Amino acid sequence: MNKDAIDARLAPCGLHCGKCFAFADGEIRRLSRELRTALGGFDIYAKRFAGMLEEPLFEKYPDFERFLDYLASNACGGCRKEPCRLFRGCKVRSCSSRRGVDYCFRCDEFPCTHTGFDEHLYRRFVAINHRMREEGVERYYDEIKDLPRY
Ligand code: SF4
Ligand code: SF4
Repeated sequence: MNKDAIDARLAPCGLHCGKCFAFADGEIRRLSRELRTALGGFDIYAKRFAGMLEEPLFEKYPDFERFLDYLASNACGGCRKEPCRLFRGCKVRSCSSRRGVDYCFRCDEFPCTHTGFDEHLYRRFVAINHRMREEGVERYYDEIKDLPRY
């Protein structure tokens, strides 16, 4: 994969937008849409199966369906295209753009303390950027591209 294609999937902080549930071109959204299509009008059957099979889980189907619709409908273009819909306090996107760095590990201030991330995310941010610096972006991406993000 070339640098532009990798950059479209990796945010400047290093998080993998490509595996985010909200990513428009991501696997989670695509598979959710496929599952929604495959299930068709299962809501009617879920009610019937709840009585027939005495399986209480079928009663939860409307909640599952709502959640599936949610996963299927999100369509974020990724951090390089628009502000993050999840980490609303993120300051990395605007900061990296102002400083003209494609990834934080290339910034003189890395690891800075004004990312806007919580403690958990900050630890990931630091670890990811250290790995990218050691291995190079292409090799790092190759290692993580098929791994779940969560
Ligand atoms: S910018 Fe945020 S919401 Fe959008 S794909 Fe990346 S992590 Fe997900
Ligand atoms: S100052 Fe911090 S957030 Fe901004 S580009 Fe540098 S490392 Fe990233």
